[in-house]
Amino acid sequence: MFEKNRIITIANQKGGVGKTTTAINLATALAAIGENVLIIDLDPQGNASTGLGINRKDRVHSSYDVLMGESDIGETAVPTAVPNLSIVPSTMDLLGFEMEISQATDRAFRLKRALDTDVARAYSYILVDCPPSFNLLTMNAMAAAHSVLVPLQCEFFALEGLSQLLETVDQVRRTVNPLLDIQGIVLTMFDARNNLAQQVVSDVRTYLGDKVYHTLIPRNVRVSEAPSYGKPAILYDLKCAGSQAYLQLASEVIQRERRRKAA
Ligand code: ADP
Ligand code: MG
Repeated sequence: MFEKNRIITIANQKGGVGKTTTAINLATALAAIGENVLIIDLDPQGNASTGLGINRKDRVHSSYDVLMGESDIGETAVPTAVPNLSIVPSTMDLLGFEMEISQATDRAFRLKRALDTDVARAYSYILVDCPPSFNLLTMNAMAAAHSVLVPLQCEFFALEGLSQLLETVDQVRRTVNPLLDIQGIVLTMFDARNNLAQQVVSDVRTYLGDKVYHTLIPRNVRVSEAPSYGKPAILYDLKCAGSQAYLQLASEVIQRERRRKAA
């Protein structure tokens, strides 16, 4: 009845690498192309929720309630200013999740169960924004996902962080999700004037080949300003280089999906 959706976890154990910015803007771009998209904010910081203009007082139900089995995706997802884009917002309650649930045998599969519903399957893409650590929240995201999308900041320690993350993905495959795929690596905050950034791009491409998206997300001040207006960069300034890059990334993601489905 429903076409199979694609659940993509956006993860990197480092903070400040562009996970949330990628979640918001890739989701917006996919929605603009006509996909029906849901973001699940799994970071207690709630930056994706705030960046999409969802006030704290409007977060009646949250991703915490979903993980606890207290509300479902249908009643938790709230529409955003972007047509075809909804979000399951987060609250600070998430900080307690790990401790409260640590004894439960299904503790890593709470999100997976919540997404195994017709309401969730009606979205063509579900993007899960993870906290900057490898904890039970990230584990739930990886257990529920078809694939992991890794934003990587073009800086000196990028490759080191990446090999750690790839080890984590292997560990997840051995334990909770044998089919977990790498959706792709997206290089963020690229500054063409910086020789080191150029070197990082070429190293990452050598190391990971076609897993790395062709699109480079440039460092762009408009992208960093947008969340303070509660808007995705694509609504705040469609013409800026960052917005254009995220639109290009979305079409790359969709092309790869078509190829994958055809294979
Ligand atoms: P994470 O979710 O991985 O912690 P964020 O997406 O919140 O990372 O990004 C960290 C900071 O960098 C934020 O202040 C964000 O606005 C800024 N930022 C992210 N991507 C860009 C970009 N392409 N250009 C400029 N600033 C960016
Ligand atoms: Mg974040």
